[in-house]
Amino acid sequence: MSIDIQQIRSQFPILEREVNGKPLVYLDNGATSQKPKVVLDILDEYYEKYNANVHRGIHTLSQEATDLMEESRRKIQKFINAKHDHEIIFTRGTTEGINLVSNSLRNILTADDEIIITEIEHHSNIVPWQLLCQRTGAKLKYIPLTAEGILDIEKLDDLLTDKTKLVCVNQVSNALGVVNPIKTIIEKAHSKGAWVLIDAAQSAPHTAIDVQEMECDLLVFSGHKMYGPTGIGVLYGKEEILNELPPFHGGGEMIKDVTMEISTYACLPFKFEAGTPDIAGIIGLGAAVDFINSIGIENIHDYEKELVDYTIQRLSEFDEVEIYAKDAEHSGAVSFNLKFDGVHSSDVGMILDKKGIAVRTGHHCAQPIMQHFKVPGTVRASFAVYNTKEEIDTFIDGLKTAIRMLG
Ligand SMILES: *Cc1c(COP(=O)(O)O)cnc(C)c1O
Repeated sequence: MSIDIQQIRSQFPILEREVNGKPLVYLDNGATSQKPKVVLDILDEYYEKYNANVHRGIHTLSQEATDLMEESRRKIQKFINAKHDHEIIFTRGTTEGINLVSNSLRNILTADDEIIITEIEHHSNIVPWQLLCQRTGAKLKYIPLTAEGILDIEKLDDLLTDKTKLVCVNQVSNALGVVNPIKTIIEKAHSKGAWVLIDAAQSAPHTAIDVQEMECDLLVFSGHKMYGPTGIGVLYGKEEILNELPPFHGGGEMIKDVTMEISTYACLPFKFEAGTPDIAGIIGLGAAVDFINSIGIENIHDYEKELVDYTIQRLSEFDEVEIYAKDAEHSGAVSFNLKFDGVHSSDVGMILDKKGIAVRTGHHCAQPIMQHFKVPGTVRASFAVYNTKEEIDTFIDGLKTAIRMLG
């Protein structure tokens, strides 16, 4: 099936905007994607027609709001092919999902345990584990990178021991756009009895996810990077694991009975959803999933792969450009720098912005990778289904100007 990009673009009001007198070319989708009209409209519609608190009310509005929220949970269950809808926990985003798990493990892990992460993680998949290890005395180990900037997966065999309790890795790197070998990592980790947490923040918008086929134990992603609202995200966990983990936040919604001495907890998913949730955000995320399904995630994947391949091909025309992990499999993003001494990625970003082109510059919340390449930052172009080859040509023209001005 070929997709009608102009029809898709027409669903995103912001794409009609001009920036600095030029049509917006938005290539910062790895930071957050734009939102289609269906998502924007449903947020208004929720507040105009259904607003009420969920799960507690006997009245009609409360029941309607609850039904919409739970319908959204089932849409997300289907989207990642989870076995049960109660394996879908709503969070504020990837960061909160990881912090939920790491805080929950505070009373389970001991100084004898080990956690393995990688040098290619976002800070939100590093810092929570450092905090957990400081609190429990558990040991944190890293899968290193090869010189090229991809995971040195051979090293995992040495790192994995009987003490490994958890392995955490992103499916796609936000900093480089590189696809990581999560299948191999999951198989090896499971052979030692360790759980695996997948950070799917950069894969959920671009690739079909099937948690049962993947066999990951926990998986997190953010709504705002996949056409949904900000402030809403998902933690998926296998039922038996979520049952084993103690709650993170205490409060309303998450209890069965409370006495002054002790409380018993509600069943899944409510055990992990204390307080009034972001009801509008949850419904908005459901609409974002509908939007993705209306095009088909496989179609989105194939089209974006063309965009990424074309970008790498065009960037390769310049001797002045260094593309990171160039030969690795990419998804959704490409990271590069100009090879000029003393030129920072932000210099390139500012010149592009004058031409209405939005890219991300800096360390992308992934400083260990920058340390690996011995650079303070990179320029990252990242894509969504509404981007076009013409926009990439505009971006390349802008880059030519940057090379002329900075060289
Ligand atoms: C964006 C991102 C995060 C953090 O997501 P938030 O929405 O800011 O919580 C974590 N990991 C990766 C790979 C990301 O791209």
